[in-house]
Amino acid sequence: MANSTKLHNVNIDDFRNRILKWYDTHQRVLPWRNVGKKKANPYYVWLSEIMLQQTTVVTVGPYFDKFIKRWPTVHDLAAAEQDDVMHEWAGLGYYARARNLHKCAKVVSGELNGVFPAAQEDLEKLPGIGGYTSAAIRAIAFQKPANVVDGNIERVMARIYAVKEPVPNSKPHLKKLAGGLADGRKDRPGDYAQALMDLGSGICTPKPPKCMLCPVRDLCAGKAQDIAASLPVRKAKKPKPQKHGAVYWITNDKNEICFVRRDEKEMLGGMLGLPTSEWVLTDTDIQPEKGYKPLGQFITHSFTHFDLKLEIYTKKLRKGGRLSQSSPVWVPTTDLGALGLPTLFKKVVKLAK
Ligand code: SF4
Repeated sequence: MANSTKLHNVNIDDFRNRILKWYDTHQRVLPWRNVGKKKANPYYVWLSEIMLQQTTVVTVGPYFDKFIKRWPTVHDLAAAEQDDVMHEWAGLGYYARARNLHKCAKVVSGELNGVFPAAQEDLEKLPGIGGYTSAAIRAIAFQKPANVVDGNIERVMARIYAVKEPVPNSKPHLKKLAGGLADGRKDRPGDYAQALMDLGSGICTPKPPKCMLCPVRDLCAGKAQDIAASLPVRKAKKPKPQKHGAVYWITNDKNEICFVRRDEKEMLGGMLGLPTSEWVLTDTDIQPEKGYKPLGQFITHSFTHFDLKLEIYTKKLRKGGRLSQSSPVWVPTTDLGALGLPTLFKKVVKLAK
């Protein structure tokens, strides 16, 4: 497999020139890009890159707009209440990202005078910033050479070099191939990285790629071998485990619903949610609390590593009644629409209401 680089030597200058030229006329207009301006805003680049981890550009757009409207600078975000940050993040998923985002803003604002560092090793000392994000910030925000490799760029590399080894095993090799083309070049490293991302997102799409529109089609080994659409090869995924549990819809005589703030160590940690039982692998192991009636309604939700099926149970708390939940947050039914809830609980609210 290492031979694929030798078998198919791509001229780096030729490749980069074509990619950058294509980008000059075809780049996506995205709210965090300073199209036509020389310098990107590092706060915008960082915020967008954190939001884009595991999430699509289309989904992120409105969230990014909301965040920069409410918190125009990293100092504003650092000064925000964590609950407000979680509220605005609700629906984006992967909630540890939001908590780290807020921690990172506090460090940059409080210890670095609001200035993001440009060196990858310094960026990676900040909460929530790993290898990919540090490379993206360095290249896009500071126009410094870095090897930025996201899923789109992996796909482009697998096709350009006709890499047949399945991902994820081939990831280090794909990164190395991308690094060979990035090659520490100082000519527009941020534009080059974004150009490859745009190429992967709009032209070198998963199935089928639009090779006739591609600026590097005659440099592409995958196209030449007529195997581009099948690359990158993916190992068959194992089916996800299914978990089960109970979710409680508790009302009181003031027409309010009981919510709880989830523990930071749990799934959806730090978010407001309806109380639930433990989530277990066998449905016969669900142990709903006493005093609740099943509604006969279920909701399903897919997380990255498991699927979840929750049965909705209900009870009306009489005046003076006690709850097992410590620190319940009672929300009037009229205010439910404005709550920043994760998608899982939005589904339950919709059904239980
Ligand atoms: S020629 Fe086709 S497969 Fe190759 S990089 Fe371009 S779009 Fe992707």
